Amino acid sequence: MRMVDLIEKKKDGLIHTEEEIHFIIDGYVHERIPDYQMSAWLMAVCFQGLNKHETAILTKEMMYSGDILDLSAIDGVKVDKHSTGGVGDKTSLVLGPMVAACGAYVAKMSGRGLGHTGGTLDKLEAIPGFDIHLSQEEFIKQVNDCHFSIIGQSEHLVPADQKIYALRDVTGTVACIPLIASSIMSKKLAADTDAILLDVKYGDGAFMKTKEDAKKLAQTMVEIGKSLGKDTRAAISNMSQPLGYAIGNSLEVKEAVETLKGNGPKDLLDLCLQSGEQMLMQAHIASDKLEARKMLEDVIINRQALHVLRDMVKSQKGDSAFIEHPELFEKAKEVIPVYSIKSGYVQDLKAKTLGVVSMKLGGGRQMKDDTIDYSVGLVLYKKIGDYVKQGEPLLEVHTNHGLSQELIDEILSAYSLSDTFVKKPQLIEEIVES
Ligand code: URA
Repeated sequence: MRMVDLIEKKKDGLIHTEEEIHFIIDGYVHERIPDYQMSAWLMAVCFQGLNKHETAILTKEMMYSGDILDLSAIDGVKVDKHSTGGVGDKTSLVLGPMVAACGAYVAKMSGRGLGHTGGTLDKLEAIPGFDIHLSQEEFIKQVNDCHFSIIGQSEHLVPADQKIYALRDVTGTVACIPLIASSIMSKKLAADTDAILLDVKYGDGAFMKTKEDAKKLAQTMVEIGKSLGKDTRAAISNMSQPLGYAIGNSLEVKEAVETLKGNGPKDLLDLCLQSGEQMLMQAHIASDKLEARKMLEDVIINRQALHVLRDMVKSQKGDSAFIEHPELFEKAKEVIPVYSIKSGYVQDLKAKTLGVVSMKLGGGRQMKDDTIDYSVGLVLYKKIGDYVKQGEPLLEVHTNHGLSQELIDEILSAYSLSDTFVKKPQLIEEIVES
């Protein structure tokens, strides 16, 4: 077989066999296929697509390109949730403890943030001492003891994705449904969870710009999961604005803690309740949404979910005093409000623009080796549907290096105001199950 023939085959819109996909992935991982040929093939896939069978084979080839975790020593159904990435998305820090406090086992591998989206690992590392590197045995013990653990993905897990994703990132081949689906699902499946809830976001700041594309991506991933015997469901959620009010690492941990105390933003709590309902049904802990909702609300009221987060932080060597007293988090030197220059209802709030501002303040990485300033970020006062008067603050900026006029202009450009009433957007629009 020759790679050049396979590139031409895909360029012409023909269907690959299982052997051909194996040849491509195995050849690329073992450096028999160079980056330039792989890039050409990825671009051909972006234009011609992959059918369901090809996508499932690609996922399997990637999944088996490295180690497969064996979590069979965990006592019950292991559930995981994966978000396709967003701004202000601290869901894992709230939903994980809620579901775990209801009795589910949440064994989660997360990634770091890059560009305008934040990563759960960075948020956890804002807690002094927190260790994201556990061995498989430590991870299993932690999940058995606490029902909840989040660790970083080992470099031996799905090496094919690590190599291909880095290449996609620099060749304009990220936003392609079969490539995103196989990338996400190969990692979830290699991590040996029994049930997966996917949060597929669309809108500004998300990979998928339209609801239709988000639905196609969700259906593709649900079908892959089901074909490999995993209960896989997907929530389609609107990411037209940041989730909650806080953007930035320690600010988001504080907001997660407030949410677990019952004082969090409504959109974040609603997303966690709706996602949690699905996860408790997937874990066979609740038989319907009503029962699940009651359990989830109870663990907020009786603080059990908060205690799970505290215990998880403690057993991963983090200073759990920061969960009990979030005021301990180091504050940025200055907190500077940005004021609205006119009155009106907030009609649009560009998540990506605010994510980029937070990154520029030092809260995120432009390059993968950049260091992060955990204390900086934004706290929004006004979101879509809110009324703002001229001269009222839209948000506050937490900064250690002042605030340039350029950043103020960027922030103001994220907000569009309307003279007429604007309805608040609904967050989860649909649940996809096959
Ligand atoms: N997240 C992933 O893990 N992979 C993609 O391709 C896109 C988002």
